[in-house]
Amino acid sequence: MKIASMIVLPMAAPYLCAMGEPYSTRDRIGGLAVLLRTDASVAGENLLIANNGKGLRVMAEMIRSLEPLVIGMDPLQPGAFLKQARVEARHLGPSGVSLMGVGAIEGALLDLRAKIAGMPVHRLLGATHEKLPAYYSAALWPHVGLDGLQKAATNIVAKGFWGMKLRAGAGTLTDQVDRVKAIREAVGYDVKLLIDINQRLDERRALQLGRAIEPYDIYWFEEPVDGRDHAGEARIAAALDTQVAAGESAFSLGEFKTMIEMHSADVLMPDVQRVGGPMEFLRIGELAAASHIKVSGHTLPEISLSLMASQSNACCLEVMPWSAPFYEGEVKIEAGFAHAGDRPGWSQGLDVKAMRKYALENADI
Ligand SMILES: [Mg+2]
Repeated sequence: MKIASMIVLPMAAPYLCAMGEPYSTRDRIGGLAVLLRTDASVAGENLLIANNGKGLRVMAEMIRSLEPLVIGMDPLQPGAFLKQARVEARHLGPSGVSLMGVGAIEGALLDLRAKIAGMPVHRLLGATHEKLPAYYSAALWPHVGLDGLQKAATNIVAKGFWGMKLRAGAGTLTDQVDRVKAIREAVGYDVKLLIDINQRLDERRALQLGRAIEPYDIYWFEEPVDGRDHAGEARIAAALDTQVAAGESAFSLGEFKTMIEMHSADVLMPDVQRVGGPMEFLRIGELAAASHIKVSGHTLPEISLSLMASQSNACCLEVMPWSAPFYEGEVKIEAGFAHAGDRPGWSQGLDVKAMRKYALENADI
């Protein structure tokens, strides 16, 4: 079997949940579909997303530049593709868009390999889990008032999620604690509450807030300081009883290796797109496992779920619905868990009708 064609399709869809200030007032999410067709009846697919739609064109061109390596290749030899593609891409740098382009194709090759084997990606990779605890990440934003927070938190519990994530770090310390307290008053302590600072605080302020909210049983305290300050993250992780999570802003296996050596976080959060695809994501997970550190993916739940279900140290899945408009169905939540499912390939399939509707270019799909 050979790869016969590759389609790279930039798209733009409405946000299912706007983040509001201070994040973004944009109302569109960028999507980039990578579709690999073979000379047989089976095809592979993958998706990248861009909060800033302008980056989409750069990523698309990076992927297209690798097309000569893809056409005619045997999809059962992804390692040979990866080795060659990384050599071709390295003049653009060892991480970032160059590796994103390589990983985008590798992701479509993994989907294709699973479909050829007639099994879901997580089972092809070993299936440590069939389901993972799932938390909802897209409702408790800084612009939402106390009443709105309590209503949204109650709604998340009603939908059956294991946990929910509150964005914090803006406003006074008292305001921050009041927001955490309001959520606990609304939903009690049976549901996990995760706090994401999004790098907004300095080390001293992060420690103050981290200690002030510890009585509210916080599952993790995420990205407390600048995402490049791994020494600062490590000091906060050592000082707090609450777990620290970090890594969504790390762009390479090497950076994660540094974070692991420094114990910058109790939970590492690789983003499959940013770190350069499934292989790098899995390597980071294995490296973390060897140091008894947990992992949890960042966004793209349709893909992260399949990869994390193969990892012994995966702790929970972020359900962020930004990519959902491009998929046929939503990640299914039952009694707190997201199920990886039986579908051959990724846990969710791209929606052809949605791709045609949201496409920014004409393509034969
Ligand atoms: Mg985050």
